[in-house]
Amino acid sequence: MPQAVAGPEIERLIQLLARMPGLGPRSARRAALQLIKKRDTLLAPLGEAMRVAAERIVVCRECGNVDTCDPCTICRDSARDRSLLVVVEDVSDLWALERSGAVQARYHVLGGVLSALDGVRPEHLSIARLVERAADPAVTEVILALNATVDGQTTAHYVTEAMSHLGRRITRLAHGVPVGGELDYLDEGTLSAAIRSRTAF
Ligand code: ZN
Repeated sequence: MPQAVAGPEIERLIQLLARMPGLGPRSARRAALQLIKKRDTLLAPLGEAMRVAAERIVVCRECGNVDTCDPCTICRDSARDRSLLVVVEDVSDLWALERSGAVQARYHVLGGVLSALDGVRPEHLSIARLVERAADPAVTEVILALNATVDGQTTAHYVTEAMSHLGRRITRLAHGVPVGGELDYLDEGTLSAAIRSRTAF
């Protein structure tokens, strides 16, 4: 355990920041220092934004997105194409697709992928709810925007099977998504192209 360089309040800030993905203890110290230096313009507003988020954030019961309202802003948006349902693994993938602006549809967040190794089984994911939503007569196509990993593809097959009786067109992202690739790391252009040239699953 390295020796503390600051009081417990600052140490706690550093320790919490170090839990963020991509931030190790070193970067966390740098981030903490930056926050402290910009106390009025960054630290205080960030603290307030986090307090509000912690109080108001809910998971959308419709699609699994996170927002401050339920149904979420996307589910409430009447301008979206109701015939398309885009299935994603995680909220980060939903956000990545929204950033790409490739599709004006509604989403369904599975909350993970099937994994024999990690013991993730169908009942742990939002698959039953997806089948329910896909059964809506307004839905004609389900786009499986899952990561091109082994588990992502296993999940795609399982979900396709679970929806087969509905007779919906089921498509998946096309080229541009590298094998083993995660959507959140793709640039918007690649994601956009992958949605546009989706193929039947
Ligand atoms: Zn929603």
